Amino acid sequence: MYLERLEAALPEVRSRIDRACERSNRQDSGAVVIVGVTKSHTIEALRAAREAGLGVIGENRVREAADKLELVGRLGLEWHMIGHLQRNKVKAALKVFSLIHSVDSLRLAREIAKEASRTERQMPVLVQIDASGEATKSGIGASEGSRAVKEICEIGGIEVIGLMTMAPLTADEGILRNVFRRTCALFERCGQEVEKFEPRYLSMGMTNDYELAIEEGSNMVRLGTALFGERT
Ligand SMILES: *Cc1c(COP(=O)(O)O)cnc(C)c1O
Repeated sequence: MYLERLEAALPEVRSRIDRACERSNRQDSGAVVIVGVTKSHTIEALRAAREAGLGVIGENRVREAADKLELVGRLGLEWHMIGHLQRNKVKAALKVFSLIHSVDSLRLAREIAKEASRTERQMPVLVQIDASGEATKSGIGASEGSRAVKEICEIGGIEVIGLMTMAPLTADEGILRNVFRRTCALFERCGQEVEKFEPRYLSMGMTNDYELAIEEGSNMVRLGTALFGERT
């Protein structure tokens, strides 16, 4: 069931990504990474992801992801953590994930670094940016800018390879574009100003806003509903 659905949805999603790249004069639509968000779905969704050739899946809860990993193994997929990570779950998270999108505070970054150092690892992470201006969103305030990102990059044991943002739930295109544009501007600024920042991934865009996000510079989209259907 998941596989049929996914194989029907993927060509449509890929062509939307291509068109969004064309509209913004980007020649690199193949470089947009699709993270298949399997949270709340069964392990059949992960198997389908592998069968359909999706290389990366995203989960938002450590426990749920660890349980799935135990059931099916890695399946040759990259496992990404996309949800808020509590500091007491860091150790478990490092056993499951190869990239954490959601480093939303200096304290969390330090905890990840501490755990990674224990196993002599360099954990790749993205710094989550709150570009909405709402204090309710988690993430480093975009107005704190490259200075806050720099502080995180200075910590040994983690490797900051990009930024992530979540746009507010709205259909207002102006608001969405503004959030994506501010995050992209910060991404570029960090690339120029922060020595240890590696500007590889700009993770922006979900089912309802990924085309806009790509037009504004995203090269990594996190898609759940568009690929696997509504979550229950
Ligand atoms: C659930 C989730 C997604 C995917 O959401 P859809 O709207 O179903 O595409 C993407 N990013 C994060 C951080 C999420 O929690």
